[in-house]
Amino acid sequence: KEQSISCSGCGIKIQTEEPNKLGYTPKSALEREIVICQRCFRLKHYNEVQDVSLTDDDFLKILNTLGEKNALIVKIVDIFDFEGSWLPGLHRFVGKNPILLVGNKVDLLPKSVKRTKLIDWMKSTSKDYGLKATDVHLMSAGTGEGVLETANLIEQYRNKGDVYVVGSTNVGKSTFINRLLKEFGADDDFMITTSNIPGTTLDMIDVPLDDGSSLFDTPGIINHHQMAHLLDKNELKVISPRKEIKPTVFQLRSGQTLFMGGLARIDFVEGEDQSFVCYFSNDLNIHRTKLEKADDLYQNHLGELLTPPTGKNVDSFPELIKKEWKLKKEKQDVVISGLGWITIHGEGATVRTHAPKGVHVSLRSSIF
Ligand code: GDP
Repeated sequence: KEQSISCSGCGIKIQTEEPNKLGYTPKSALEREIVICQRCFRLKHYNEVQDVSLTDDDFLKILNTLGEKNALIVKIVDIFDFEGSWLPGLHRFVGKNPILLVGNKVDLLPKSVKRTKLIDWMKSTSKDYGLKATDVHLMSAGTGEGVLETANLIEQYRNKGDVYVVGSTNVGKSTFINRLLKEFGADDDFMITTSNIPGTTLDMIDVPLDDGSSLFDTPGIINHHQMAHLLDKNELKVISPRKEIKPTVFQLRSGQTLFMGGLARIDFVEGEDQSFVCYFSNDLNIHRTKLEKADDLYQNHLGELLTPPTGKNVDSFPELIKKEWKLKKEKQDVVISGLGWITIHGEGATVRTHAPKGVHVSLRSSIF
């Protein structure tokens, strides 16, 4: 019977199973005379946006509509998971529209890292990915650092037009928009609404700007290559950094291995002694061992010495896939999507990564 109910706010089909998907409403709310989805409820009562996610196909539909519009695109990425949160196809869809690229969660990076250097790195990396950003900026929606500047840049580049905020799930898009709302406006006349993209059932949140234009919050797309999909809530807490990361330096010689909890592993196969600098959540335990003992250790101590995973996730955890990397340049990062990265200083080393099936591992020029 539930299938036949639609939200009287946005018209989306109501469902009670998946809180992060469109149309979700708690079962108890179905008894009310007027049923609205949780997203519209929050919007109506708290002027607050909630993040929802979409399937890849639906996300493409949204991207397709962007190119036809005349608008500023604000693309938010998670600076801690730059590759993983990138949205690879975007540049093909934006047409001639300007793009403001914003790296969020800058509070997680060590204070010693120069912001200008980071911005240069973002510029050259986005060019490598085929995106020509009009401007690049850093902020922390969480702490508020750089948010006002982001708002000013949006004002500057939108040229009195509409704004679309896009990003994969978990980049902090809702945190950002909610902060904007709290700081600039959200009085009684300032009613946020949801609106459908013509021809689809995909809704966007429409935040009116003072000159008749709108800022649209688009649903995020799920980032499939992340570690996050394999973990439960408590395990996720361990791997998600909440404050400034303190990198850990290991001086390694070949024949040594580092375990990132029980989630991933890097073997130093060949090369001169050198430092491996680990940028992971401060709560994730990094365990050094001899390469020759590493397989046994994993077999016998996953979920005990090597955690996460924990509990029943230990048995169902996917097998680790090996990949060998020859480092051709000095100072490269081996990135494990959504988990963190290891900066390796010396040239010519060979390392082997082990990461769960489906989790993306890549090599890049060092971010710092
Ligand atoms: P969305 O899916 O893009 O809308 O992301 P959310 O706004 O729901 O944020 C995802 C997670 O990242 C939440 O746990 C937030 O608390 C956290 N987060 C958002 N912005 C920041 C930030 O600037 N710094 C840090 N450290 N965490 C943030």
